[in-house]
Amino acid sequence: MDIRIDLGSDTATRPSKAMLAFMMGCPVGDDQKQEDPTVNRLQDRVATLVGMDAALFLPSATMANEIALKVHTRPGDEVIVEADAHFVTAEAGGPAFLSGVMMSRLGGKRGIFDAAQVEQAIRPDGPHYPRTSLVCVEQTTNLGGGAVWPQQRLREVVAMARQYGLATHMDGARLINAAVASGIPAHRHAQDFDSVTLCLSKGLGCPVGALLAGSKDFIGEARRYKHLFGGAMRQAGIIAGAGLFALDNNVERLAEDHENARLLARLLSELPGIAIDPAEVETNIVFFDVAATGMTGQDLADALCLRGTRVGARWRGTTIRAVTHCDVGRADIETAARQIREIVVERAA
Ligand SMILES: *Cc1c(COP(=O)(O)O)cnc(C)c1O
Repeated sequence: MDIRIDLGSDTATRPSKAMLAFMMGCPVGDDQKQEDPTVNRLQDRVATLVGMDAALFLPSATMANEIALKVHTRPGDEVIVEADAHFVTAEAGGPAFLSGVMMSRLGGKRGIFDAAQVEQAIRPDGPHYPRTSLVCVEQTTNLGGGAVWPQQRLREVVAMARQYGLATHMDGARLINAAVASGIPAHRHAQDFDSVTLCLSKGLGCPVGALLAGSKDFIGEARRYKHLFGGAMRQAGIIAGAGLFALDNNVERLAEDHENARLLARLLSELPGIAIDPAEVETNIVFFDVAATGMTGQDLADALCLRGTRVGARWRGTTIRAVTHCDVGRADIETAARQIREIVVERAA
């Protein structure tokens, strides 16, 4: 299949020539001995960016999340998350497999819940109950449609967690999108959280990599599990260099992705049979529903694929997810919207 416009995910980005050239020039060393200067620089830079003491470079944000879970919990614990959180839907059962924890899944609005829901979900103390030990939030929400948690809501949830002695983790795979969209720096979003995950291979445009940040002690423990999970690398500076390049060059431009997502939402809202509220598009993720066209999401995705455009259809449903990133421009968005129009008009005829 020749995909020319890939809206399937912001993981579709390829490293630019300039990024590759920068990576080639980065000094490297043995990261298992903490002697890779590029990895060390990236870790320091990200720790500062998110306002934490230390950070750890990892192959993926999935590993960062799973390590955070491992450090914050003991087997048998219960973790409070939103029902559609990446932890629940896209980490291959990792919380159960790797940490032996149960997930208490809150119903959120576009991936966002509130402090009262957290309080309701906390188990009482006693021998019958699992021990509630951690609350996780996703910033931005992925299956919630790229929504940005308001600062006030974050503060309330963290305060509630602390009141009950729970740890807090922010799955900030797209935290930088949240920072750019809100104009509020990343460290303010992550403020008072015990740990935060940041993904480099989404909108930031790197080919590989993620970071986990937290206190010095937390990262010390996390480093053990990095090794145990097989994520400890050697001359990893060659890929960490992409992260340094991205933080210098690919942050402000996320605003373009957000603008393109809003454009896509607006164009789709003009099409018959497509349900979407453009006002809900805050960052680079666009969800829309095709039920009224009589098609499933997969039907539309397959028809688009034949025209060279990829979107993500939700399993057995009528919703579609389209994600903008640095490898799709405004003209691509207009093309994709035109193709979708052709498909729904053809279908109606
Ligand atoms: C993509 C994503 C991850 C995992 O990132 P990988 O680097 O692909 O493992 C984790 N959390 C959220 C919210 C994501 O969207």
